[in-house]
Amino acid sequence: MSDNRILLNKKELPKQWYNIQADISKPIPPALHPGTGKPATAEDFAPIFPMSLIEQEVSKQRWIDIPEEVLDILSIWRPTPLIRARRLEEFLGTPAKIYFKDESVSPAGSHKPNTAVAQAYYNKQAGITRITTETGAGQWGSALAFATNFFGIECVVYMVKISYEQKPYRRSMMHVWKATVYPSPSQRTNAGRMILAKDPDCPGSLGMAISEAIEDTVTSKNTKYSLGSVLNHVLMHQTVVGLETKKQLQSIGETPDIMIGCCGGGSNFAGFIFPFVFDKMNEKGKIRFIGTEPEACPTLTKGPYRYDFGDTAMTTPLLKMHTLGHSFVPPGIHAGGLRYHGMAPLLSFIKNENMIEAVSFHQNAAFEAAVTFARTEGRIPAPETSHAIRAAINEALKAKEDGQEKTIVFNYSGHGFFDLSSYDKYLAHGLTDFEYPKEKIEESLKELPDIKE
Ligand SMILES: *Cc1c(COP(=O)(O)O)cnc(C)c1O
Repeated sequence: MSDNRILLNKKELPKQWYNIQADISKPIPPALHPGTGKPATAEDFAPIFPMSLIEQEVSKQRWIDIPEEVLDILSIWRPTPLIRARRLEEFLGTPAKIYFKDESVSPAGSHKPNTAVAQAYYNKQAGITRITTETGAGQWGSALAFATNFFGIECVVYMVKISYEQKPYRRSMMHVWKATVYPSPSQRTNAGRMILAKDPDCPGSLGMAISEAIEDTVTSKNTKYSLGSVLNHVLMHQTVVGLETKKQLQSIGETPDIMIGCCGGGSNFAGFIFPFVFDKMNEKGKIRFIGTEPEACPTLTKGPYRYDFGDTAMTTPLLKMHTLGHSFVPPGIHAGGLRYHGMAPLLSFIKNENMIEAVSFHQNAAFEAAVTFARTEGRIPAPETSHAIRAAINEALKAKEDGQEKTIVFNYSGHGFFDLSSYDKYLAHGLTDFEYPKEKIEESLKELPDIKE
């Protein structure tokens, strides 16, 4: 009997986050104030984030201590296993070795609690009693509800309406963890009312829900806003994933050739690879990093690297990032967590420096890989994660063709237990493959703010 799991004990849980801002060739372009177009100051962010997180957002310190209280909660499920996918290798007949980091073992079922716990902690320290956020299919909302519950903070979630109606189970999880959940667009905010006045049946989008959550924050007492991806501090909190993976690979004398993750806002992929990008920058490694995304929302592969708003109502600071335009509403693919118009500025920056590659897949191709994985390895992945699995399988098949023994490591960002209805549809008659929505993207790119750099 072979044990395919590479485990760490509790003592090996990383005690510090890795901040890649200490090591990139030049500082990333600053966030800009949405009104003035001038670099945003700490005071600009103060209405929506606690100061400690604003400091982390711009920090150039390489290692930042993880507070004891945060470690204590992370240790409920961390360190997470790294697993050799031997049965998948055998099925593919590849000489490549395939490993995956299993972030699906968190109580919320994805990597997202890694930052949710940290953010809830810093808000608690700042005396905040209520946090608002947005969520698509509910992964982020459920992760934040899980975290705020531990700290006795009220959690208010604006959930994209179509998911609120069609994906009830993560809504139920949020309720169990005491959050309040509103379908977005809602009648509770100006942003929501304006959208509904134009289109009463609007299914909602992440960009709209962000506008609502931020408006709620700035018009409420003792309330801050929390974002589950994209921002520098979020990516940093996710580096526990890559730091553990590094230790695990070292413990078996393995060095990766290829590392793969799926990209919505970029947090799980960044957290997974940044500690390894550090080595590449120091000429210590030659790893290929591959970010994967849906053909229907191809931010990294097709979006220009430009300043844009994070939300539809144009209220957030402007971030320099790969973007499809803040007014772009992606087609209704099943990987809800990958339906965001923008990409994390730090990940966009290193993509622009050619440190990483990106590929996009149609959803049938992603589900096909997911089902192959489930039938060989047993685990049923989230539709988002399936994009990473598709790339891992493709690379393993390429290695077979070339007769090369590659080591491929991918991040298993979450399980698919709440997405089984999309598996049903895939198995019954296949899913619709939305073509790259070229015209819609060209339309929304016309609305990019005109920033002189
Ligand atoms: C949210 C989510 C993603 C996408 O978000 P990132 O910030 O890009 O990581 C990917 N996989 C799962 C399982 C998710 O829940």
